[in-house]
Amino acid sequence: MTGAHNGRLTVVGLGPGDGRYLTPEAVDALATAEALYGYGPYLDRVPPRVGQSRHPSDNREEGARAAAALRHAAQGTNVAVVSGGDPGVFAMAAAVCEEIEAGPAVWRALDVVFVPGITAMLAVAARIGAPLGHDFCALSLSDNLKPWELVERRLDAAAAAGFVIALYNPVSRARPWQFGSAIERLRRHLPPTTPVMFGRAVGRPDERVSIVTLDAADATVADMSTLVIVGSRETRLIARPGRTPLVYTPRAVAEASA
Ligand code: SAH
Repeated sequence: MTGAHNGRLTVVGLGPGDGRYLTPEAVDALATAEALYGYGPYLDRVPPRVGQSRHPSDNREEGARAAAALRHAAQGTNVAVVSGGDPGVFAMAAAVCEEIEAGPAVWRALDVVFVPGITAMLAVAARIGAPLGHDFCALSLSDNLKPWELVERRLDAAAAAGFVIALYNPVSRARPWQFGSAIERLRRHLPPTTPVMFGRAVGRPDERVSIVTLDAADATVADMSTLVIVGSRETRLIARPGRTPLVYTPRAVAEASA
């Protein structure tokens, strides 16, 4: 079935901010869409086009935004929904799937396409070396959509299992204490010298990247635009004269207990 009369919804990853991180597939999808949906500041990154309608919405309205985009696509329109980073990582792709699952049968007949983007954890890792060089996991610290007890359980399990941990959504205005509490929790499992990396607004003009040890990690450094990578016992620094250190996690682990 082709989508011309049927409507199409493309969920597009914009990458972390730098236009060079936008894939050619994403550029094509944005150029051919008749209507664009997304969180306002993300839509602002997409150059305007004549004949293309824009439907910005608020940050917290993912479900409503996905449903509006699906209704529009079901009218036979080529609609794109944008996400920062990758749309499949704590973002719009799952919101669209949730709405399709719960919504009218016609939504299941739409062409739905997912265009990947460079997710924040990969952009931050690329700034500092290879912290994700061995097994890692990603957690969202937001407890808007899950209980905080579950976040704590997953932090304990991830640290105890030796994963490098990428933390999305460390802080928001409504969640001021969670990240500090998460750092405290990780200190129970990991050595004080474990590298902790803060990547703020990576790929944007106000980018800031810092590397500290777990014992010195200051929770107030993180904000809504920060992605935090907490190393494992294996993660280490390579000092370099006159240059920032490389942080990396070796590809091999010798000890089963590590
Ligand atoms: N889909 C996005 C993640 C959405 S959750 C992606 O794949 O990157 C929002 C969180 O992503 C933020 O709280 C922050 O932790 C992280 N993030 C998004 N863009 C970022 C950037 N440019 N630099 C650092 N972290 C970023």
